[in-house]
Amino acid sequence: MALIVMKFGGTSVGAAERIRESAAIVRNYAEQHQIVVVVSALAGITDIILKAVHAAKSGAQVETEACLADLEARHLEAIGKLLSSPSKEEIAAEVGTLHKQLRDFCSALMMLRSATPQVLDVALPMGEQISARIFAAYLKQIGAHGEFIDSGRVLVTDDKFGNASPDMVATRQRSREVLWPLLKQGAIPVVTGYNGASKSGLPTTLGRGGSDYSATILGAALGSGEVWIWTDVDGVLTADPRTCHKAKTLAEITFAEAIELAYYGAKVIHPKAIRPAMELGIPVWIKNSFRPEVAGTKIVAHVAGNYSPVKAITAVKQAALVGLTTQRDVHFAEIFGRLFLRLGHDQTDVLFSTQSSSENSLGLVLREADTEHVIQIIQHVFRTELKHHVLAPPSVQRDIATIVVLGESMRGQWGVLARLFSAVARLNVSVIAVAQGATELNICFAVPSARADEVVRAVHQEFFEHQHQESIEAAVTA
Ligand code: ASP
Ligand code: MG
Repeated sequence: MALIVMKFGGTSVGAAERIRESAAIVRNYAEQHQIVVVVSALAGITDIILKAVHAAKSGAQVETEACLADLEARHLEAIGKLLSSPSKEEIAAEVGTLHKQLRDFCSALMMLRSATPQVLDVALPMGEQISARIFAAYLKQIGAHGEFIDSGRVLVTDDKFGNASPDMVATRQRSREVLWPLLKQGAIPVVTGYNGASKSGLPTTLGRGGSDYSATILGAALGSGEVWIWTDVDGVLTADPRTCHKAKTLAEITFAEAIELAYYGAKVIHPKAIRPAMELGIPVWIKNSFRPEVAGTKIVAHVAGNYSPVKAITAVKQAALVGLTTQRDVHFAEIFGRLFLRLGHDQTDVLFSTQSSSENSLGLVLREADTEHVIQIIQHVFRTELKHHVLAPPSVQRDIATIVVLGESMRGQWGVLARLFSAVARLNVSVIAVAQGATELNICFAVPSARADEVVRAVHQEFFEHQHQESIEAAVTA
């Protein structure tokens, strides 16, 4: 029997009714497959925990209490609606203990008034500790053998608290020791998403939204046949449907395309989650738990279908362009190299950059939220060059959007840029900066934010709403 790791995101376990439907999906597939379930917290719970913790830290007792009460009510309601005696009382007691731990944790913060990432990693995965217990108990109730597993027992990480990375060798060993015997007995392990433990056993988390990553890490560690990410959309779309109502679901995309899409903000899968599956060539499906009959999108190494050279269009709507120009005869690569090194240390993402030697200038397109920080870095790193006018003061252009057009089959094709920018030109939109990735996987360009939606729609129309329509539709129905 093939092994599938199935991850259910927050909305797929949002409340009693959603857990009921997701568990039914698991039970159906469990007849033919071995299944390991990975669950997120109930939708919004991690945010509430974070809010409670911050309120406690700043001494806001009333707000802390309101958050804790809200959280307890959501969990108790789900338990009350889903489970029957005696499991209802059992799980309510276990969950009650976790709620009490969170209360004690918040009381401690009220006194300490501070919390390091290491301390936060004790509290943040409590939503998963609870949802996985409820999910496993409900599976038992409907006749499937769910077994709660704390991921801290199987997923070994480094000790970068709040944003830990897996130790794959140790995780492989642990997960096999713990999960294989259960699978052999016909059990369905229900593993908490998002968390792990360092080698010395300290609780860690994989970063917000990290349950997808948990699923692909475990899929790779166990050598599963596939990983299925159950979410609340039909799969990966050609564009954001809120901007472009003609966006279509793609039957397949490649790992490389999925990484690009996730990097530029399409919220289908966590950007880090692709790698573990990609390294072993394990297909990852994005599926809709609200419409399990829809096939979804398959993420694979090579796609079989025949697609438009452009696979998808995405936009980062809040961005800024920071320009840096050298004014004297200095080697700009040395100057700019120092900047990139520093950005790397800080793990600050650059959406795209442009550099042309004749002007000795560098353009960095950044997320708006990172812009102030990068300007400070520039002012600090180049304080001497700025003082002696080797560099001109950095320029900043705000309110721009980055549009990303991507697709692996653009590689080696001609005419894509011409079609793309003709479509943009017809809108009388001026392009502020452009870069085509050297792998020819993506084309990034910046336009004024106010025009971003129109541009996305025009580009979508150019590549998806004419002659290529049939091949896409064929792919969707395949
Ligand atoms: N519950 C965690 C979060 O909201 C992890 C996840 O849902 O993937 O960040
Ligand atoms: Mg979540």
